[in-house]
Amino acid sequence: MTITLEEALAELRKARKLVLTAHQNPDGDAIGSLLGLGHMLQALGKDILLLLDDDVPTRYDVLPGHELIQKPEEGKTYQADLLVVLDASLDRIGAVRDAVQATILNIDHHPTNGGAADFLYLDGHRAATAEIIYQLWELSGVELTLPLAMALYTGIATDTGFFKFSNTSPFTMRSAARLLEAGVEPNIISEAMEIRPYSHVKGLADALQHVELWHEGRAAGVFLSYEQMQEIEATDSLIDMLRVIEGVEIATVLKYKEEGKARVSMRSNGIDVSAIATKFGGGGHKRAAGCGIEKPYDEARQELKAAIDAALAPTDKVDEAQAALREAAGAGDPTQPSAAIGAAAQ
Ligand code: AMP
Ligand code: MN
Ligand code: MN
Repeated sequence: MTITLEEALAELRKARKLVLTAHQNPDGDAIGSLLGLGHMLQALGKDILLLLDDDVPTRYDVLPGHELIQKPEEGKTYQADLLVVLDASLDRIGAVRDAVQATILNIDHHPTNGGAADFLYLDGHRAATAEIIYQLWELSGVELTLPLAMALYTGIATDTGFFKFSNTSPFTMRSAARLLEAGVEPNIISEAMEIRPYSHVKGLADALQHVELWHEGRAAGVFLSYEQMQEIEATDSLIDMLRVIEGVEIATVLKYKEEGKARVSMRSNGIDVSAIATKFGGGGHKRAAGCGIEKPYDEARQELKAAIDAALAPTDKVDEAQAALREAAGAGDPTQPSAAIGAAAQ
């Protein structure tokens, strides 16, 4: 059932013992929301446990409290009043879902969230789940400490591409400003997020050898098989190299970390890639989405490319329709559109 922000805060206040989690393959928003809410609940005197079914990349060591994040122990059951799932729907939290016995409160900003939790607070207009945690902090009345501010700033900054994506709103900037007032040093966060081992930079170069363009240069992708992934260290930043290619409207990376199980990332400059991801059982946002495809390489690659072609096709048709209109209007020179075409193009 969906609830309001005030009701979400009431559930958090009501619980005494809480387990907090976020999605596997965690990003800055997953970690930032997890630690931010963790700090806020500690200030409210709650007994909290931060569980994440994945490794936490070392770049997050800059965030106070990162050492509190634990992996669920195999076979162990955790009892709590509330399990808070952040920045994802329940299918992306791995073993935590079955390991924790508690009522589930899901706080998320992905419009594709199907709402399987007992309580769901979803705001698809917020750039990051950390923005929602910021709103909860505003309502909570607790002090904005530096650890809390650093965590929320990291979540907001990373999900907005450091304040450059289309999801960056006046609210984003106002909350970031408030977090800076609490003492966050933006360069400390951005430097920590950008730093990577030499092997990742080398891996990026290797992976880029495999970039391909198709659909008249409107799609770009790197597709790496399990065998290639043994040689190439392809990281999440690869997609950012593809989405900036001139003329590219949809960029994708498909890679096999595990045999038979491809992980797909997609980015667009307006076409709804979350609709493509949803077809494969994933989700995300209009301009950034992802999914898993449990199929062999050739099949997965072909199906993904076909789905991207289908998403681009409606805009092919506009060109065709314009050409037909031009012909009907008897305009010999396509560089000199007739009034009818001008009207049609509005
Ligand atoms: P990524 O390409 O992993 O950075 O993900 C882009 C966006 O899609 C993020 O908002 C993710 O949370 C979301 N996303 C990625 N993978 C999935 C998935 N399997 N299911 C639902 N959402 C996803
Ligand atoms: Mn995330
Ligand atoms: Mn997010």
